[in-house]
Amino acid sequence: MRQRFLIIGAGIAGLTVAQEILKKGGEVTLIDSGVNHSSRIAAGQINPLVFRRMTKSWRVDEFLPFARNYYEELEKQTGRSILVHSTIRRLFAHEQEKELWLVKQDLEEFEPYMEKITPNDLNFVHAKNTFGSGRVKQSFFVNSENFLDSALSELLKSTNFQYVKAKFDYHDLNVNTGEYKGVYYDKIIFCEGFQNKDNPWFQAIKIDPTKGQVLTIQSDSIYSEESLNRKCFVIPTANNIFKVGSTYEWHNDTIDNTDTARLEIEENLKTLVSESYTVVEQKAGIRPTTYDRRPILGIHPEHERLAIFNGLGAKGYLIAPFLAQEFAAYLIESKPLDREVLLARFYKK
Ligand SMILES: Cc1cc2nc3c(=O)[nH]c(=O)nc-3n(C[C@H](O)[C@H](O)[C@H](O)COP(=O)(O)OP(=O)(O)OC[C@H]3O[C@@H](n4cnc5c(N)ncnc54)[C@H](O)[C@@H]3O)c2cc1C
Repeated sequence: MRQRFLIIGAGIAGLTVAQEILKKGGEVTLIDSGVNHSSRIAAGQINPLVFRRMTKSWRVDEFLPFARNYYEELEKQTGRSILVHSTIRRLFAHEQEKELWLVKQDLEEFEPYMEKITPNDLNFVHAKNTFGSGRVKQSFFVNSENFLDSALSELLKSTNFQYVKAKFDYHDLNVNTGEYKGVYYDKIIFCEGFQNKDNPWFQAIKIDPTKGQVLTIQSDSIYSEESLNRKCFVIPTANNIFKVGSTYEWHNDTIDNTDTARLEIEENLKTLVSESYTVVEQKAGIRPTTYDRRPILGIHPEHERLAIFNGLGAKGYLIAPFLAQEFAAYLIESKPLDREVLLARFYKK
């Protein structure tokens, strides 16, 4: 008999894990309240580097090719634009950053991600440039709205999938039998993002809500052939339209737009470009962050029917597709998970 899964949350975590479970022959009901405060707000940028320390992003050699194939496949299936090629150009913040790039660009492990700096990069004229710039190979961004709508519409094609637009009611779940509103489930997987704070069974997990605000701006003259980066990102998303952001407001789960954030983003933008622009829109969202910057995957230590996939932090679009596949293999085929993501770390005595 098919195993039956109930998934709570249709952000990138819930959608990717639903897809992987269906591939492995499971049956899925996905419940979502219909209001999303993270995956839909995200800029969706895929950056294999961490500029602050000029290191590679965690497990990027595994995550990046998988994510790219995943989005390209979804694009083929739906005919919608999801993966948008846009090289990230890092304008160096200081001389040491440039020196670090120059050292790393010759190392084998960085070769797939760093273009070697050319005279054109040093003298790049389409942004305020004091220390030169470097281009990130294999960088792109995901159109988050198109992704969420396409991923759900693909799932709905399966006869083993059901979508319910509703708030999940914790009181209606029998954790011992797996019964929820008259239906029995083998596993209930919580993919609630920062809203995990309301979950009575996963209180031991501290998801730190990190608020982020993003501006959409219109400009006829800002450089649009690449994404610019220094203190903020400037991603060209359509004709003369750019996403600019984002703020990092720690321990903050409010979802209103603030003038303080808008001013901060605009100040950062002005240190990067001098062209004029108009702010078209402002949005706020909440990243589900963990103390050790690692996601959380696993089965509850006391309630074996309850599982969690959360803590995607600031990089959900890079890491979720691969982790979802690992998680489905863990749940259905008992394959081990990477030690760093284990839920067990929150229950250590
Ligand atoms: C401003 C900003 C910029 C970002 N930029 C990037 C970026 O450039 N690149 C990148 O990779 N990542 C980025 N991120 C991070 C990325 O968005 C997150 O890692 C990711 O969205 C987390 O996904 P999630 O599915 O865990 O949570 P969410 O997207 O929050 O999904 C959780 C879902 O669960 C539902 N839910 C919760 N509780 C219940 C309940 N009781 N009943 C029913 N439904 C429920 C919610 O309605 C929601 O739809 C950004 C985030 C923000 C806020």
